[in-house]
Amino acid sequence: MSGMEYHPNFDKYVEMIVRHPNYKGLYYDRGKDGRVNWVVTGKSQKGQLRQAWWDAKCKELGVSIQKGCYAKVARLIHPTGKHVCQCCGKERSIFYEYPTLRTLSKINALFGTHFGQADYTIKEILIRFCENPKDLNDIAAILHLSKPKDKTDLIETIYRELVRKESKYLSPGVMCNPPDRFNGFHSYALCCRKVKDRGRHDDNMKTYTQDRRAYENWSDGDYNLANRLMGEFHKQPEMQCPLCGKVERMTADHIGPVSLGFCHSKYLTPLCSGCNSAKNNRFTKFDVDRLVALEKQGEIVISWHSKYIWDLLKTKINNDIDAKKASSVMAKCHQNVLYILSLIYKYTGRDFLLRYLHPEYSMVDYRFENIDISHLDRLKIIAKPLDSKNKRKNQERYLRIAFDSLSDFGVKENRKNYFLIDENSQDLMDVVKSIKEKKYEEAHNKLYILINVVSQEIYEIEYEQKRYSTKLNFDS
Ligand SMILES: [Zn+2]
Ligand SMILES: [Zn+2]
Repeated sequence: MSGMEYHPNFDKYVEMIVRHPNYKGLYYDRGKDGRVNWVVTGKSQKGQLRQAWWDAKCKELGVSIQKGCYAKVARLIHPTGKHVCQCCGKERSIFYEYPTLRTLSKINALFGTHFGQADYTIKEILIRFCENPKDLNDIAAILHLSKPKDKTDLIETIYRELVRKESKYLSPGVMCNPPDRFNGFHSYALCCRKVKDRGRHDDNMKTYTQDRRAYENWSDGDYNLANRLMGEFHKQPEMQCPLCGKVERMTADHIGPVSLGFCHSKYLTPLCSGCNSAKNNRFTKFDVDRLVALEKQGEIVISWHSKYIWDLLKTKINNDIDAKKASSVMAKCHQNVLYILSLIYKYTGRDFLLRYLHPEYSMVDYRFENIDISHLDRLKIIAKPLDSKNKRKNQERYLRIAFDSLSDFGVKENRKNYFLIDENSQDLMDVVKSIKEKKYEEAHNKLYILINVVSQEIYEIEYEQKRYSTKLNFDS
């Protein structure tokens, strides 16, 4: 694992685990930096020592040596039941408490949300996002359980029938891999595992899972429509990927990536999952041309907070190399914007920031006709307003998720990006002051200018590669 970065929480966790009596006698040593060598290869001498320990532990606990026995023991002896992810530093349950991707896609379709794998345990989803009996019945149906009496009943049934029996509808928060890893669990938990397998670069990896929700919630455009439409892509028969020609089921690609500050929109194109993940939140020259053409037709393609940088860049992009560079500038600006919003949230709470959210989009249900994912111009969208109870529920859920994601974003230690505004910046305090005086229009104007100034600075540093001025405070 040399060269791999560790989240500081993981370091603390490792020290706790190796000192814990449950692992007494299990072999480990330390590297030159004093760090525990967490991973050994199974076939090495050190690996053999660990193997022997696990075999003895099985015997001690009466677990017969067969497939899955080490995983069983690893769960039995884990002192807290919560594994800390080496990548993002968050705690994940080692038990089967998380919806599998399949289960999750059904839940997301039901709620119009975009939860990622391991964002929430099934219990957290029930407690925080299920507001009425219909939700409970729907979740029970997704998990192939009978109608529950109430929320407590459903949670109890889920833990008794699914979590404890390691149901196929659920997944543990971290996979087992003894005896290579000291305590028998993969260093990367479910939250970051997929990102790792896709071979993303380390820098991207850390920010990706952590920030995705904030990007999605604080961008303009009808997210509900976009999500529903994206869901339709998976349901369509296999077709040839327009980029690489592979025949498989398509995923939906936003022409302007939401992670760069573009709006949620119905302007989606089919791509195979390989091409979509290789694009990795970048746009191409072709995408830029299409976005500019949409703007000429009067469409709004960019969120309010990223308009300045988009307008600055879009006329300067002449080829894919420019487009890649511009994508990276926009990503950096977008992170700065969300960090500023997270500070405002910390200092002033919800009231002012509500103006940038769009609960109205969560109050409609969509149906589609004439779905042809390669020619979405023929698509017919049928909108049906939800009843008032469901409206209220969806609105509350949407707002809670949006503000949660902003709090998470405020923890920035992990990022490779720099932040031009910090907690004590005078310009930020000026915005905060106007908000506290309830002068929201004034606050908005000041915030808008602040974001534009920050975007301009980043543009000059990154795109024109001017030397940054010394007054800027860099946070590496
Ligand atoms: Zn993680
Ligand atoms: Zn492809």
